[in-house]
Amino acid sequence: MRVNVTLECTECKERNYLTSKNKRNNTERLEMKKYCPRERKATLHRETK
Ligand SMILES: [Zn+2]
Repeated sequence: MRVNVTLECTECKERNYLTSKNKRNNTERLEMKKYCPRERKATLHRETK
């Protein structure tokens, strides 16, 4: 039931993180504040399709 997803920075579009989520509990796109190495600050990262 878990799927791997990629988290992309919403500001520079860099793909910074790989994670997994439970598709049954989490049907919407994941969004979370993560550190972006390119911008060297925390930005909102969103699941890519
Ligand atoms: Zn960024």
